Amino acid sequence: MTRGLMMDRPLLVSSIIDFAADIRRGTEIVSARVEGDVHRTTYGDSAKRIAQLAHALSAHGVNFGDRVATLAWNGYRHFELYYAIGGIGAVCHTINPRLFTEQLIYVINHADDRLLFLETSFVKLVEGLVDRLPKDLRYVILCAPEDMPETTLPNPLCYEALLAGQQERIVWPEFEETTACGLCYTSGTTGNPKGVLYSNRSTVLHSMGLLTVADGIGLRPGQSLLPVVPLFHVNAWGLPYVMPLVGTRPVFPGPRLDGESLFTLMDQERVTAAWGVPTVWMGLLAEMRRHGRKPLGMELVLIGGSAAPAPMIEEFERDFGVDVIHGWGMTEMSPVGTVTTFGPDHDALSISERRARKISQGRRLFGMDLKIVDGTGVRLPHDGVAFGELLVRGPSVMAEYFNDPDAGLGVRDAEGWMRTGDVARIDPDGFLYIVDRSKDVIKSGGEWISSIDLENAALGHPAIRECAVIAASHPKWGERPLLIAVLEDGRTATADDVRSYLSDKVAKWWLPDDVIFTDDLPHTATGKLSKLQLRKRFGDHVLPGA
Ligand code: ADP
Repeated sequence: MTRGLMMDRPLLVSSIIDFAADIRRGTEIVSARVEGDVHRTTYGDSAKRIAQLAHALSAHGVNFGDRVATLAWNGYRHFELYYAIGGIGAVCHTINPRLFTEQLIYVINHADDRLLFLETSFVKLVEGLVDRLPKDLRYVILCAPEDMPETTLPNPLCYEALLAGQQERIVWPEFEETTACGLCYTSGTTGNPKGVLYSNRSTVLHSMGLLTVADGIGLRPGQSLLPVVPLFHVNAWGLPYVMPLVGTRPVFPGPRLDGESLFTLMDQERVTAAWGVPTVWMGLLAEMRRHGRKPLGMELVLIGGSAAPAPMIEEFERDFGVDVIHGWGMTEMSPVGTVTTFGPDHDALSISERRARKISQGRRLFGMDLKIVDGTGVRLPHDGVAFGELLVRGPSVMAEYFNDPDAGLGVRDAEGWMRTGDVARIDPDGFLYIVDRSKDVIKSGGEWISSIDLENAALGHPAIRECAVIAASHPKWGERPLLIAVLEDGRTATADDVRSYLSDKVAKWWLPDDVIFTDDLPHTATGKLSKLQLRKRFGDHVLPGA
């Protein structure tokens, strides 16, 4: 082998903020705060506070490799924490406040966090957990001294006081690029949450992967992007790292994520692109219908986390002139794997042909290899027809879970690829179609029915606001689809209406055997439909004729 003679410089997240401070210095960072106002800073000033925070962390005994936790909304302080913690070689453990109590206690103990930075709005939540958290855990409240709340938390520190007086410059330490910088637990639909430990290298390379599609996903210098996807869940799909690289102007929404608050903020700040899960966009779309227009300046919405329903894509594009990009990924992948991208090969496509491709989860980023395999692990062709288990490989894909040998059993195949738990097909152009999660697919008499496709079709029914399809047991077929639907206010429908609406949209044998109407559907801590809860609630439903 002839070794290349280039510098072996480590890929570190600290170099991203240094770059932004240098090249994107004047670009604004806007944050709607818990305090109720809108805060403005710039990458240049943010970098100074990040340096102060890094010095403060060291002064409070945070060492290389220590875990430091956050319970915070999307805003400039949370952004500062990402860089200061990772920059000194510690690990930023972002906690999802919507986890159940037992899960919160589990993750903080499992990560063995040293410090916990929390918003004033989470003080009550944490007070209720303190007895079961590590005894030496220190609490830092994300506010100014005058806003420090009354609390029973032991010896709470104040964030702004912590920063005050610290040096605004820092020479970041250099260490191996494989050093961990972030820790994120999956919601754990079954069993305990599992930790995914990102490295500096995986994080920088994931950001570079996003750069390969930056323009198409609303990342351009000076453009305003609203990350509704939380900083407390899977690195907000990589945004905290890629925005400073590109020089995108973040408009962080803080705690208020209802349609009305988002619409107002987007209007005021002339947000051009917004990223989030479908549930959030249901709220925003309702608000857009009420106003009869889109928020001023809005050009693009990126929908991911669960399948973007076809009617939602159509409404954004046709009724409001907002371009939809669909993305897919998972915590274990840093997280973005694929997004809608088109190339010159697609110039001749009609609007409806382009829209049909947006139902797909898009095409892979640089650094994400995809394969689909059959039940015996043999590769299937990317012909758009064959479907099977989806596996991924790449420098920002997890190799094993954090301190959890059992959780990792069978996570990778014999060739070292990671199992995603999704079932998919891939077409010759590289468009990935997630058929279902393997545990959600309905196995009817040896054939598979995609719950996602059925939900998508049913959502086109004018009376249906939200719906889910789960498997109900059937004596003859093993499983048959059961549709559970929430109706729009003031609308009615019967099971037969819905079945006849679907009859020309899906194969006859896909038609749900029954439709149940309910007032609301359960969601997970990340805003997705909880099929687990639904199966508990309705899995024993006796189908007509069964
Ligand atoms: P959590 O379960 O904690 O929300 P993830 O965000 O890691 O964890 O979930 C990843 C899973 O979400 C994927 O494996 C896939 O099943 C589903 N998913 C994500 N994006 C999409 C999408 N665009 N379409 C369909 N499923 C998606």
